Order: sequence, then structure tokens, then C-alpha cells
Amino acid sequence: MKIVVLPGDGIGPETMAVTVEVLQAVSRRFELNLDLDHDITGHESLRRHGATVTPALLEKVKAADGLMLGPAATYDFKDESKGEINPSKFFRKALDLFANIRPSRTYEGLTNKVGAFDLVVVRENTEGFYADRNIASGGSEMLITPDVVVSLRRITRECCERVARSAFELAMTRRKHLSIVHKANVLKLGDGMFIEMCHAVGREFPEVQVDDFIVDAMMAHVVRAPDRFDVIVTTNMFGDILSDLTAELSGSLGLGGSLNAGKHHAMGQAAHGSAPDIAGKDIANPFSLILSAAQLLAWHGTRRALPRFGEAARAIELACEQAVKAGETTRDVGGRLGTAATGRALVQRLLAA
Ligand code: NAD
Repeated sequence: MKIVVLPGDGIGPETMAVTVEVLQAVSRRFELNLDLDHDITGHESLRRHGATVTPALLEKVKAADGLMLGPAATYDFKDESKGEINPSKFFRKALDLFANIRPSRTYEGLTNKVGAFDLVVVRENTEGFYADRNIASGGSEMLITPDVVVSLRRITRECCERVARSAFELAMTRRKHLSIVHKANVLKLGDGMFIEMCHAVGREFPEVQVDDFIVDAMMAHVVRAPDRFDVIVTTNMFGDILSDLTAELSGSLGLGGSLNAGKHHAMGQAAHGSAPDIAGKDIANPFSLILSAAQLLAWHGTRRALPRFGEAARAIELACEQAVKAGETTRDVGGRLGTAATGRALVQRLLAA
């Protein structure tokens, strides 16, 4: 399996270095023969190539079996004509990574205010209220007068249908319960279509129990009783916000894994951003990126029918679970180790198993 590795900005290089060590460790233990091809994006690429991402990099990624993308300092990248392209958007759009799978679960040994839960947010990833990805060219956020901005939100039957199918397929591998999250009381046409397509796909999965929640109320439900939920499917921006909340409820945003998956490509990418407030301090939690790497291995294993990739993914998840319980973590989840030491301990645990 060839994986292109792009550390990104802020805490990206620290957390990706640790993730690479973990990937190398499982490659040895499970004979995965991983071929990691390191390249650059974000600020470093802007300095060296005049753009945060390049067409040559995209070609390399298209030819690989998977991509690990570190967080981007997206807020810094304002002008695409100056090469300031959002790498996250770039790959999601160019590789058509329509389903963003974001699991969140609580861990034994980690104090938690909301009780135990284990859920997955499946977020539509290619349209919605994202001005930079829902039209073919230009932006869909417009300055009408110096005092008026209009932002376009695109919802299509095709994108609703395919993300719903990913969510139902995932629900079939779990507790067979799917919750649709929407704002159809206000966005009657767009979210109305989203709900309609989810139910249409749901008819192919009669074993899955389906319910739905309005997004604002959902924020209360998921804080009050997150154990009510199994798989949650929602549109792009609602999913972005909800999944940061569920990751934090599980103990820390630094525990939130995230896989961006399409038909032919997939990209592991932490749920969090570049966290400039803690960058370079060796305190960032690497588990989010490591768990995303595990999701990428599992995706490849399913696609190519290679069970040892799934086993490697499960071993990483188990090692993270045990590390949390043993307190071999960064301080955001109650541990005392730095980023690099957390990675070394995890590698030892993986190789000792
Ligand atoms: P953030 O997710 O980077 O950080 C939010 C908070 O969570 C901060 O307090 C941070 O220290 C903490 N945090 C994040 N990751 C952590 C980790 N691994 N371990 C411990 N603590 C962690 O969000 P932000 O500060 O609003 O955004 C910073 C930059 O990241 C912005 O430029 C934003 O646009 C960008 N961003 C990028 C992505 C992406 O690349 N997918 C996602 C979100 C934000």
C-alpha cells in the first residue's frame, strides 16, 4: 500500500511524525509492506512552490492507494490566485471524497461528563455551505456591495444519495441505528431533499432503524444522552460542527479520527485544525491523526479484501485504548507525556503485543 504523507501546518509535523512511526510499526508487525511517500503542503509548499498544493502532488496522490493529510492553517489561505488554496478542500474536491467518517467514543480510564458512548458522524463532504467547493469555478460566496455578502449552499440529490448509502452501509456493520440530522424546518427544500434521499436509500436497508433530529436540538440531545446514537448522517457544515462536539465530549478534540472516503480514493485527516496555540510545544495529542491512519488502513483492507489491514487498524485502536487507560497520553486527556513520547510508548505497546 502506497500512502502519500503530507504533514501540513501548525501541529501537523509533530503529530504526523508520530503517526508515521505508528504506521511503520504496524507495517512490520502485520507485514503490510507500507510504502510511505513524504511530500509537503500548506505554508511550506507555498514557500517552496508558490502554492499550498500543486497539480504534480495531486497526480502523485491519485496514483497512490491512500493519503494522510496533516491539518492545514486554512484561515491563513485567503487568495487562491496567490496559490493560497485550502489543501483540505483541494483533495476532497479533486478526489471526490464525498463521505467524511468521524467516529467518537469514550475511553475507559478517562473522566467523562456525559457517560459512555460510541457513535460515528457521517458528514457529506463535497457541497453544502462550503463556498469554495460547491461550484465548478470561482467562489459561491459573493460580496454584493461592500456591506452585503451572499453565500450559496448547494444540495444535490446525487450527493445526498451517496452519503446516505455510506451511512447505511456503516450502520449495518454496527448497531443498525441511523439518525438523520438536518434543519428542514427552515431549509425546507435543501434539507427536505436530504431527508427524502436518506429515507429512499433506507428502504434498501430495512434492518436499520431510522430517526431524525433538527440540528439545533441535536446539540442538546448529543450532550444529554450521546449513548442514544450510533451512526449520524448530516450535511457538510452541520457535520463539521457536530463532530468536533462529539470528539470533545469523548474526552478531547485530539481524539477525533476522520476519514474522507470516495469510490476510488481515501484520505486520513485529523478532525481538528492546525492548533497554532499549541504548535511546536510537543503537547498536541497525536491520537486523532493516528486513529485516522487506522481508518485509512481499514478502508484499504476492505477495498482490496486484505484482512491484515483491518487487523492492523484494530490493533492501533486497541493500543490507543490501552494507552488512555494507562495514562500514556498527552495532557489534554489527563496524561503527562509529550507528543513524541506518547508516540514512542504507543509504538512499544504495538510491537510488544
Ligand atoms: P483547532 O481545531 O486547530 O483547535 C481548536 C482547539 O483545540 C485549540 O484550543 C487547540 O489547541 C485544541 N486542539 C486541536 N487539536 C488538538 C490536539 N491534537 N491535541 C490537543 N489539543 C488540540 O481549531 P482553530 O484553532 O479554530 O483553527 C486553527 C487553524 O486550523 C485555522 O487556520 C483553521 O482554519 C484550521 N482548520 C483546519 C482544519 C483542517 O485542516 N481539516 C480543520 C479545522 C480548522
